[in-house]
Order: sequence, then C-alpha cells, then structure tokens
Amino acid sequence: MVLRVKEILTLVCLLIFLVAAIQSVNVGELRAEEGSLDAHVHGMSDLTIAIEGTEIEIEFESPAMNIVGFEYQAQSEQDIKAVERAATTLKQYDTVFSFSDTICRLIDSSVNVAGVLADAHDDHDAHDEASADTHSDISAAYHFRCENLSGLSEIKVNLFQLFSGIEEIRTMWLKDGKQGAVTLTEDGAVVRFN
Ligand SMILES: [Zn+2]
Repeated sequence: MVLRVKEILTLVCLLIFLVAAIQSVNVGELRAEEGSLDAHVHGMSDLTIAIEGTEIEIEFESPAMNIVGFEYQAQSEQDIKAVERAATTLKQYDTVFSFSDTICRLIDSSVNVAGVLADAHDDHDAHDEASADTHSDISAAYHFRCENLSGLSEIKVNLFQLFSGIEEIRTMWLKDGKQGAVTLTEDGAVVRFN
C-alpha cells in the first residue's frame, strides 16, 4: 500500500512536470507567432513619425539582420564591433534624418541593441532569449524639439545609405491630426506630409 502511494506520487510529479513542459513549449510557440504578427521580415524595417506642436518623435525598428547582418548574440570581437558601430551610426540622428525648412534640436534618443549585444550583467537572460527565439530586432527612438514645425514639409530618411541590409521601410506618420503611410525605398526615401 505504501508503495502504491509512492507510485501515485511519482506519477503525479511526472504529470506536473509534463504539463509544465508542455506549457513552456506553448509559450515559446506563442512568442514565435507574436513575432510573425509583428512582421519581422528581413529587409523590411519600420518607422513611425509623430509631429505635434513643436515636437517630433521618431521610432525605428528593424530586424537586426538588416543592420548588422546577423541576429544571434555577438560573441566575437568582430561581431561586437559591428553592433557598436551600428549603435553609434543610429545615434547620429542628424546623419540619419534630414528635416526640410526647420531647425530641430535633439532632446533625447535611445538605441536598443540588446537583442544582439547584451550588457555583461544581463548576459545570462540574453542567452536564454536567444535560444528561445532566433530572431532579434534593433530599435532606436528620437525626440526632437523644433522651430517653425508648421513649415516642415518632408523628412528625408538616410537609413538606406547607412545600412545596406534595409530594402524597405514601412513608415507611418502623424502630423497635427493628419496621418499617412508610405513605404520608403532607397530611390524614394522622403516622407512628405501633405
Ligand atoms: Zn530575423
């Protein structure tokens, strides 16, 4: 009788373990599906531009592949340097964007390359993430304050020249209640607000 109880307990433990294992697999699959809904397509990047009053907010998101040519955690000195170079390039906001007929000052910006280059202290988490999901993104955000924003008719996006892996940039913009969407290419990399 004691043995039976032990056997049942062992079975229950096994079942709990199995359920937990199945659930973690499902979570992994869900994450992959969310990723595909988010339209992570190599060659395609996303840009959102919001202009309100005297301020411009720009968000850029891209598969890391377009920016550095890989999506794993950089380990070699060469890969680490490639990520650092890309981050430095993205931080040079006045190289990345050209504003027409207005003077804009950067208030703050951020570049997120954690998907391909983790900080030393969260090294472990990043490795777990990399093994669960083989795709990684790089993103950047910029916040500008400008003079005479009503005169701003267009923004030129120079990302194609900076990162040869970008083929198209799906762009959504909002300007004082108006909105639009445009897909930029190397030959047509200007967002016009009209
Ligand atoms: Zn990818």
